[in-house]
Amino acid sequence: MRKAYIEEQKSRHGRKAVVVLPVHYPREILTAMNVLAVELWGPPGPPRGPEAGRLQTYVCAVVRNALAFIASGGADVADGALFPHTCDSVQGLATLAPDFGGWKKPAFRFIHPKGPLRASSRAFIRAEMVALAQSLATLGVAPPTDDALRDAIRLHREIDALKLRLADRRAYLPVNDADYYRVLRRGEFLWPTDHLNELRDIERKLLDTPAQKGIPIFITGYVPEPMSIFDVVAEAGAYVAGDDYAAVGRRVNSRTELDLSDPWAALVDLYDSASPCPTHSAEQAPRLAHLDAIMQRCGARGVIIHEQKFCEPQLFDVPALRRHFGAHGIPQLYLEGELESDFSGQARTRIEAFIETLSSPRSAA
Ligand code: SF4
Repeated sequence: MRKAYIEEQKSRHGRKAVVVLPVHYPREILTAMNVLAVELWGPPGPPRGPEAGRLQTYVCAVVRNALAFIASGGADVADGALFPHTCDSVQGLATLAPDFGGWKKPAFRFIHPKGPLRASSRAFIRAEMVALAQSLATLGVAPPTDDALRDAIRLHREIDALKLRLADRRAYLPVNDADYYRVLRRGEFLWPTDHLNELRDIERKLLDTPAQKGIPIFITGYVPEPMSIFDVVAEAGAYVAGDDYAAVGRRVNSRTELDLSDPWAALVDLYDSASPCPTHSAEQAPRLAHLDAIMQRCGARGVIIHEQKFCEPQLFDVPALRRHFGAHGIPQLYLEGELESDFSGQARTRIEAFIETLSSPRSAA
């Protein structure tokens, strides 16, 4: 389905398509350059070929599967690949994809500084953004004009603002989690205006009275794979009232005031005001405060921490998360996966048992 969509975007709109590895990148630049971003979170399921075996077994499934997918020709419809400096594994993949994966097309890099921005790191990331635009131009597309960049920033701001409204009113949306997150995740490959239209369609369904009857829970983690997590949660009698998945909720930027007179400076401001993420910064206190605020807003009765095995940046935060939720008496469940196609029976049982504990009067108190 993605392949047909990408081909249509290229033939009908004359767009280039670039495969993008997780997590953070200035997507506004790609939009302003008429380049379709197609994110590659794995993909889930068993690796699509033997090339995953070229990596040590302690490398995360996101990178192992991506190498196998690229090597098996799965990304051949794209014109290039972008490797943000998310972690050592994605950085390494930027070299391995051409060496071991036979990737013959351009490989772009985007290095973002870690930690809160200072004057020097602001200058650095601005230069990285300009360099990214210059390297994307080698695909035969024009560098972005300031006006095109402003338009792209406004479009993505509109998308984020709508996602925030939906998140705030999740309980009033008569759509199950599986369908809701399917729409949210289609933003990983749709052209932004197509994504915005789908979000508007879903917004029209909002009711004046609560539509969700299950137990509200909160999920923090990396990527909602397997997607059947939403079915398992629903069948157990709960719904996801808020999320901090790196692939979904965490990438929604809540900044509303933005000076667009210098659009490159505005992109740096956006980067600086992104939600706390361990692939951005190792500072845990702002992240914990941010998660507390979401949990309070959505009224979650418990939290699922859903991580990828061998994910160094994310797992670094897990002890602090567990201590923090434990200290505040918030029921928690820790899940670790490797992009399986579906949950094991044991994992399903753990989720069901966890949600059952949340329905007890003691937990609800
Ligand atoms: S799962 Fe973790 S280690 Fe793997 S690519 Fe993502 S951030 Fe890097």
